[in-house]
Amino acid sequence: MKKILLLLLAFTTIVSAALRVETTYSTLGAITEEIGGDLVNVHVLGSSKYDPHFIVPKPSLLAKLRRADLLIMNGGGLELGWLPPLIRGANNANIQNGAKGFLDISHYIPMIDVPTSVSRGFGDVHAQGNPHYSTDPYMVPIIARAIMAKLLELDPDHEQRYHSNLEKFSYRWQKYLEKLDAKMKQCKDKKVVQYHELFNYFLKRYNYKSYGNIEPLPGIAPSSKHTIALINSIKKNKIKLILQDVYHEKRTAKFIASKTGAKVIVIPHDMGADGSKNLEEYYSNIAKKLCR
Ligand SMILES: [Zn+2]
Repeated sequence: MKKILLLLLAFTTIVSAALRVETTYSTLGAITEEIGGDLVNVHVLGSSKYDPHFIVPKPSLLAKLRRADLLIMNGGGLELGWLPPLIRGANNANIQNGAKGFLDISHYIPMIDVPTSVSRGFGDVHAQGNPHYSTDPYMVPIIARAIMAKLLELDPDHEQRYHSNLEKFSYRWQKYLEKLDAKMKQCKDKKVVQYHELFNYFLKRYNYKSYGNIEPLPGIAPSSKHTIALINSIKKNKIKLILQDVYHEKRTAKFIASKTGAKVIVIPHDMGADGSKNLEEYYSNIAKKLCR
């Protein structure tokens, strides 16, 4: 009996010693697990099945945030529609903006499509630039380093282990990027349109050109006038690929495809959106679908 109690006590100590980390999206969660290993207990707030701009702020998420030691968010406005009331409601001093247990990854990222003046030209949801940087596999090491620095700050006793995890992961990732780049070199057709500007970072990395979006502006639903103009552009520029995501309606893309002969391909915007179980599988799936 005494033995069991001692074991239980040891187990509780191990569990409670791990940092409780909340991340807003799956890709960030997976990178945190790579760097934190068993020193962190990671939970993802926003399921990759849904629009990352509009995650439903369920009470269960509030309960998670109340107990968190660290909150890692994408930033760049991606969580603006759902996270701020949850952070306020959680009333947890650890994870308030600017606190030690708060990390906004976008501060480390060279953001693209940043408007030069305040206008609604970038739509309702990309007013701070394009926040979907995690679709670019080259951002992964930048994200990993930012997370390591934060974990070190919160848990300096395990400095060696965080450093060693980062080193191992960076080596593995470098090898993976070489493989991915070799695959992407074989792609011939580099002209696309998208539903929402989800893949600009990936497209830019591999020299694709996006000719427009099914949404007239980010976050604005398709209109017939805009759809007709897009159909004309697809025909004129001989575009064969329409990039659809898992969560928007598919009717408009199918209609455009039927008028132009272009093909609709569904691309995952976050790890797990297509059932991918790890980071390599996620980026490889984007490449596999896109590369023609
Ligand atoms: Zn967006």
